[in-house]
Parts: sequence; C-alpha cells; structure tokens
Amino acid sequence: MIKHEYDAVIVGAGGSGLYAALEASKTARTAVVSKLFPSRSHTGAAQGGIGAALGNVEEDKPEWHAFDTVKGGDYLVDQQAAKILAEDAVRAVYDLENRGLPFSRTDEGKIAQRRFGGHTHHFGEGPVHRSCYAADRTGHMILQTLYQQCIKNDVSFFDEFQAMDVIMDGNRVAGIVALELATGEIHLFRSKAVLFATGGFGRMFKITSNAYANTGDGPALLARAGIPLMDMEFYQFHPTGIKGMGILITEGVRGEGGILRNRSGERFMETYAPTLLDLAPRDMVSRAIMTEIAAGRGVRGDRKIDDYVMLDATHLGKETVYSKIPDIADFCKTYLAIDPAEKPMPVQPTAHYAMGGIPTTIDGVVTTGTVTYDGLYAVGECACVSVHGANRLGTNSLVDLVVFGRRAGMHIADYVKGASMPSLPEGAEEAAVKKIERLHDGSKGPHVGPFYTRMQEAMMAKVGVYRNERPMTEAVDLIRTLRDEFRAVRSEDTNKAFNSDVLGILELENLLDLSLVTAASALNRKESRGAHSREDYPERDDAGWLKHTLASLDGQDVKIDYKDVDTSIWEPKPRTY
Ligand SMILES: Cc1cc2nc3c(=O)[nH]c(=O)nc-3n(C[C@H](O)[C@H](O)[C@H](O)COP(=O)(O)OP(=O)(O)OC[C@H]3O[C@@H](n4cnc5c(N)ncnc54)[C@H](O)[C@@H]3O)c2cc1C
Repeated sequence: MIKHEYDAVIVGAGGSGLYAALEASKTARTAVVSKLFPSRSHTGAAQGGIGAALGNVEEDKPEWHAFDTVKGGDYLVDQQAAKILAEDAVRAVYDLENRGLPFSRTDEGKIAQRRFGGHTHHFGEGPVHRSCYAADRTGHMILQTLYQQCIKNDVSFFDEFQAMDVIMDGNRVAGIVALELATGEIHLFRSKAVLFATGGFGRMFKITSNAYANTGDGPALLARAGIPLMDMEFYQFHPTGIKGMGILITEGVRGEGGILRNRSGERFMETYAPTLLDLAPRDMVSRAIMTEIAAGRGVRGDRKIDDYVMLDATHLGKETVYSKIPDIADFCKTYLAIDPAEKPMPVQPTAHYAMGGIPTTIDGVVTTGTVTYDGLYAVGECACVSVHGANRLGTNSLVDLVVFGRRAGMHIADYVKGASMPSLPEGAEEAAVKKIERLHDGSKGPHVGPFYTRMQEAMMAKVGVYRNERPMTEAVDLIRTLRDEFRAVRSEDTNKAFNSDVLGILELENLLDLSLVTAASALNRKESRGAHSREDYPERDDAGWLKHTLASLDGQDVKIDYKDVDTSIWEPKPRTY
C-alpha cells in the first residue's frame, strides 16, 4: 500500500474537477485523482454550448436566464442558486475566453451565440441566442483549456486511479482509497479536503449518450458511507440520440433551425409546444416523441430498434451544417452513412443527464440541510446544488461546472488554511483491499456482462421517459436481486495490471447501488414534474411534492427524507411553452 498526503484531493478531472483544482491549488497542495486520462473525461464530449446572457446577438439578461432555469426545472430549482448560476455565467465565459478558449465568432468578432431549448427572452416570449459555442466541440475546448491551466499551475495528477472508498472520521472527511489501474496497487490519500467531481451515471440505462466511464462512482461511494443523495428520480432523456445507439445529436441542430418530424413528415412539436416548438425543454420534447411513437406516428424500427422520428436539417444548407455542426455531420456519416445536409437523421430519446446527486451548498460543501460534512465537497454532474431541479436546460451543465467548480475551489483554498490534517482511522484501506482480494479468491463466479444487460434493460424500460407503479416496483425488485447475485461475481482475469474485469465489477457495483436509489426515489414520488413523468399520477402536485427527495441507502432498503425548495424569487406556476 502506498500513502500520500495532500491538503486537497479532487476526484475527477472533467470540467468541474479541473476548475476546482485550479482555484484550490492557489493555497492548497492539490492532487487530482482520475480514473481516465483528464482530457478523456466526458466533458470533452459536450457539443452544443455553454449558456450565458452576453447579449452578443440580441438583447439578453441574466435575470431571464435564471427564470428560464427555474421554469425549465419545473420549479424544483433552488432559486438563489439559479440566480448565481445565471449571473456568474457571463463572467465565467469571458474568463474561459481569456484563458484561451477558441469560441466561434460573430461577424463583428464577438463570441457567437445560438438558440437552445427552453432559453427565452422576456420571461418566455420566444427563443433567445444564449448558447456560446466552439462549433459543436465546446466541451472539448473547455477541457483542453482547463487542463493546460492546471499543468501550468503545477497541480499533481494521478491519472488512471480508481477511487474506491471515501474515508470519514465522523462527519469530517479524512481522505480516499484508490486503486492504481496500471499496477493493481492500493493507494491511501490522507487529506483535509476531498472533492468529488466524478460526473454522471447514464450507463445504468440501455440507450445512453454517456461514455462508458460514466458509472456514478462518487455518489455511490458516498451513499455507501451513509450520505443521502438528492432528487435521484430526476433523470433526463435527451430527445435526439442516434436511433438504436444513443450517440448524441446536439440540441444545437434544432438551435440552428433543425425540425423534428414524424413518419408523415409533420412538424409534431406544433401540437405540444406552440411557442417554442422544437426548442421546448428536453423533458417535453422527449415525451412528445414517445407519444407520437405510441400513437403509431413514428417511423417503423425493426426487431432490434424501436420506432423513431426524424430530425431534419436538410433545409439549413451544406455551409451551415458543415461549419456549425461538423462533428454531428461526421457522426451521421460514420454511424448511419447519412449526410445530414442531404437526408434527415433518425433519432430517439437517449438517457443523458442526472439532475440529482450529492447534495451541496452553493460552495460545493456536502450537506443535507441539517448535517454538514466538513472538508467534503461535490461539484458538476455528480452534485445537486440544486440548479437543475426536475429538468436541466441544455448548456446549463457546462455553466454549472465552471461556476460551482470555481466556488468550491475557492472555498477549499480558504478551508484548508484553518483546518488541521485529519488522522486516518486504523485500517482505513481494509475494505477496499478485501474487496479486490475477494474478486481474485479462485472461486468460480458468474461473469459481470449479463448483470449490466439486465440492469440497463430494466432501467430503460421501467424507469424511463414514462413511469408507472407496477413496472417501477418490478425494477426495484430486480435490482435488489441483482445486488444479491452480484456478490458471487469474480474476476476471470487474474492479472493485477490494467485488469478491466475488476474495474468493470467495481463500476457495476456503483451502478447497481445508484439504480436502486433512482428507482426507489421514482417509485416514492407520486406526481409528475419535469423529467419524472408518471402515467398514474400525471399532474404536478405542489401542495404535496414541492420538495427535494433525500434518499439514503441502507442495505437493500432506501430510506426517504425531504428538504425544502428555495422559491424565494418566483412563485411556482404551471409550465407552458
Ligand atoms: C454527449 C454529451 C454532450 C453534452 N453536451 C453538453 C452541452 O453542449 N452543454 C452542456 O451544458 N452540457 C452538455 N452535456 C453535459 C455535460 O457535458 C456533463 O454534465 C459534464 O461535462 C460533466 O462534467 P463533470 O466535470 O461533472 O464530469 P466528467 O466530465 O464526466 O468527468 C468525470 C471525471 O471523474 C473521473 N472519475 C469518475 N469516477 C472516478 C473514480 N471512481 N475515481 C477517480 N476518478 C473518477 C473521470 O476520470 C473524469 O475525469 C453533454 C453530455 C454528453 C454526454
């Protein structure tokens, strides 16, 4: 076992982790521990843009952005946090520009902006140009920019290290245990502050836009350490994934004027969102697609692929397609043999973004509202501030990463100055060591593969876009069974170096735990709000359910508690677009 000591350990090298590391490293000796090489983090896949009311193309205001965020989140958003997000977004985008991010430009040389779902002017009057972009490679540019800045500032990187455990001393963090993938060695990190920035967990679903590494490790580790997770029932399905594959077609295509059509070529969004049409929030567009398909108006799939609809960008012309969405054009040519400038793209909803996660203050400190965990932080997709409420607007995740990543980093820089180095409890690494030993104990267990398939199929079919009591109960039961059977799984590969069998097993354990929390939280919430759409409770119920869920994992049980929503600025209203 190898020991390390740092003031701050950041787990995760996506946009949120790197931004936090940049700020923390101003006073704290900072290490970034990442299971991927930093520039392979999922932030690098973000296409469409980062939202900020710069007003470069038309009039815009942070207040409108904050309002859209609250309304888009179906009023489950904490409103002061949304205000910070929208106001600080403007500074954050110029900050990225100053650090070297090559944004696309307007003819005048200003940062270019495009329309995106749910972003409006004058509190909902019509779509506004708010998304700042670098073609359809915005996340890639953010990640490269921040990584370069971290290298310049001498942040220490532990690349390809899988965090396995968080070490707590009561309600204070003391460090983490990690597995070095190249050697199979266990490392113990003792530190005053630990920040989780481990990203999303779309891999619990069969069809997803998420990378293979998006397995929710951070929230799962904390859930097993007894820390509740917030609003896990709110999982976003993006309306336009490539049929059968889930690879994302950015909302930027509709932002540039792309149109969704059913099998008869009708622009069906006219029925569902007469004002914003194809640029309505994602939860509404995904439901509209599923409703069209259920009514037999989808394009027929085959035995392997469900029915789907078409995203038409042919009228935009080759020049716009190749300059504004070049990567999308490439994906379509590679995976579908279609040129989107000539033929419409076949699309269906794909599991995309976790609104819920580790509950935090506006400075990234982990808290349930009643219990606060000293030195423990979370930011980015794995956290829940909550600025996305029941449904995130496109372009608001990238803002979340840089705005709240920066705030958490600043808080850490200050916190470590006054905090002593915690002592590590005896045998802090033991659970992780035993877990790995068990996987290699020589007994013959089932392979991990079929567990993934069964979990992903159940979550997709029973805890997907539309939900109902019976299927969700079945999903909870199945996940419990899988968690039981999972204990027999062993690694077939006996090597220590780069054992991807072991990694897959550790990741599956995390996904199973989060699937249970997600399905149980969804079963518990008896209303429809944002991305949580129940056919048996189709209405939003503010009197009963305008509250955050706090779900604690306790063996095979999930215990539910609640937290108030901050509605201090705008009174909740019915959502129409
Ligand atoms: C295809 C796609 C397109 C998107 N487009 C947009 C967009 O245009 N605009 C927008 O606002 N949002 C977009 N999103 C959402 C947004 O990109 C993500 O929510 C965001 O990038 C997540 O960033 P993060 O910093 O939280 O985590 P990530 O970038 O996912 O990084 C997670 C990090 O955690 C590390 N990690 C995870 N587990 C462990 C562990 N156990 N031990 C050590 N390290 C670990 C990984 O190595 C990685 O470095 C998109 C998402 C996808 C999937």
